[in-house]
Amino acid sequence: MARQFFVGGNLKMNPDTVAAKVALIKAINVADLDPTTELVISPPTIYLLPLKDILRKDAKIAAQNCYFKDSGAFTGEISPAQLADAEIPFVILGHSERRTLFHETSEIVATKTRAALDKGISVILCIGETLAQREAGETAKVNEAQLEPVIDLLKESDWSKIVVAYEPVWAIGTGKVATSQQAQDTQKDIRAFLSKAVSPAVAESTRIIYGGSVNGSNCKELAKLPDVDGFLVGGASLKPEFVDIVNSNK
Ligand code: PGA
Repeated sequence: MARQFFVGGNLKMNPDTVAAKVALIKAINVADLDPTTELVISPPTIYLLPLKDILRKDAKIAAQNCYFKDSGAFTGEISPAQLADAEIPFVILGHSERRTLFHETSEIVATKTRAALDKGISVILCIGETLAQREAGETAKVNEAQLEPVIDLLKESDWSKIVVAYEPVWAIGTGKVATSQQAQDTQKDIRAFLSKAVSPAVAESTRIIYGGSVNGSNCKELAKLPDVDGFLVGGASLKPEFVDIVNSNK
């Protein structure tokens, strides 16, 4: 079965006013979007509920992070139970900014993934290597090491609620997009690893999307690659060209 093209807009900690966020959602709402693309918008936590209310109904809202406990004394955190209660269907986990700046290990990311799935929340699971790791020929090893703790905690059926986002750290926010060859080769390797470590059926059906300096000009070429099933978009999700990225599989 063909994998549905998936595009996530990761707004990160942007833009900095409510008005700007509402304007962004309104622009998406009136845009002519390819109905075959699954579209998910991920604003900062404080805007999840109001933006969910105004976002077009054929798109979904995602949180940018969550903790793994249901409730309790965890100042500053939000739980999968709370996201479920607020009917937020997706969460981004393991983003390289969380791993690097907030010291999240692959084990923590795996525990969070398990906790989100247990509450029925789908996960955009981010993995990817640094430039030094790529140059040392360690790309596959790093991606596999980031996936392994997740694989250990998931049942085969859980994978229908996972989208893997391959995001080379050196490409995030740098304007230095992976070449088609790099994206295709790496994502093909990730799929082969899923086939071996989980099952051929899961490898075949799981969306593996690319993230890192995707924009309106480079998306069409990347979208054609057989193992690129969509994009996770940071900077360009704040701009009008985001519509071209959503429509890049047409
Ligand atoms: P970028 O970010 O598109 O700005 O490179 C991608 C991401 O961090 O998800």
